[in-house]
Amino acid sequence: MIVVMKPGATKAQVQHVIDLVREFGLKDHAIVGTDRTVIACIGDKRAVDKGALENAPMVEKIVPILAPYKMASREVRRERTQISFGPSGAVLGGPKVGVIAGPCSVESREQLLETAHAVKEAGAMALRGGAWKPRTSPYAFQGLHAKGLEILAEARQQTGLAIVTEVLSAETIDVVTEFADVLQIGARNMQHYPLLEAVGRCGKPVILKRGPSSTMEEFLLAAEYIINAGNPQVILCERGIRTFEDYVRNTLPLAIVPALHEQTHLPVLVDPSHGTGHAAYVAPMSLAAVAAGADGLLIEVHRDPEHAITDAAQQINHHAFSAMMKRVKAVAEAVGREA
Ligand code: PEP
Ligand code: MN
Repeated sequence: MIVVMKPGATKAQVQHVIDLVREFGLKDHAIVGTDRTVIACIGDKRAVDKGALENAPMVEKIVPILAPYKMASREVRRERTQISFGPSGAVLGGPKVGVIAGPCSVESREQLLETAHAVKEAGAMALRGGAWKPRTSPYAFQGLHAKGLEILAEARQQTGLAIVTEVLSAETIDVVTEFADVLQIGARNMQHYPLLEAVGRCGKPVILKRGPSSTMEEFLLAAEYIINAGNPQVILCERGIRTFEDYVRNTLPLAIVPALHEQTHLPVLVDPSHGTGHAAYVAPMSLAAVAAGADGLLIEVHRDPEHAITDAAQQINHHAFSAMMKRVKAVAEAVGREA
């Protein structure tokens, strides 16, 4: 349930309600909005004396949270959450459509630095690159691991771009948190609940990718794990789901963008690279995602896609990325956003 405070409630009055909520054995999350504060109370509400809460000074009303995900729900927070990160304070969830771009994997220092400068020049807000890769085959390239993180850090230092990289396991959270500005939870790990709880304690924003066989509700409940563990900075990323269709690597269901905006206040990204698996479809689906209201895009860009070690078919080259960015800007402006 949510305790809605009247506009103008003081910090002490909010704290008084929080103390009462804790006395009833519930967990509290206060959300300070522009005109009022609400306190979401999570736990067994049968233990609560609703009258005592209703009577507390400056409490306006108490309403149940109907969605199974509580903190991620728009019932708790009507305003859109903006998440900022990196050396230049890039923001996702605001008026600007943010583009995170870079190779699927960090392959070498030269490769990453070259692409880092190219995507920066074209207008990206952050650099992506996997140092630990979730590969279908155990014999495939698994990433440069710690060396990859050092290369990403050098790219940040040279370009000022924020760094986004995947955290594959709980054992690597500390080292990835030390280097990255944003941690990515890959699609395969969306339901790895102990890992979600661990990134919930890391203090950095998290991009949570949708599992290829998960429903929107399961996706939002996975986000709830991270928030409930103490980290409200969750960015959702649709990256395509597995269907019977096989002319694409995954089916990219863009209706989830407006649907998520209805259900949650969290920013929504679209990844048309994994979402289609084909370089030729990346730009058109990026434009469609922005038109549908996406807050940002996650795009795989490689200096020489034909020779990429991972995901060669879907990475676009520097020239294609730069051309795409101009069109993204035009569509963003056409739908009332900035780029
Ligand atoms: C990636 O971003 O390179 C990646 C592995 O994505 P996903 O987890 O969506 O497959
Ligand atoms: Mn990839």
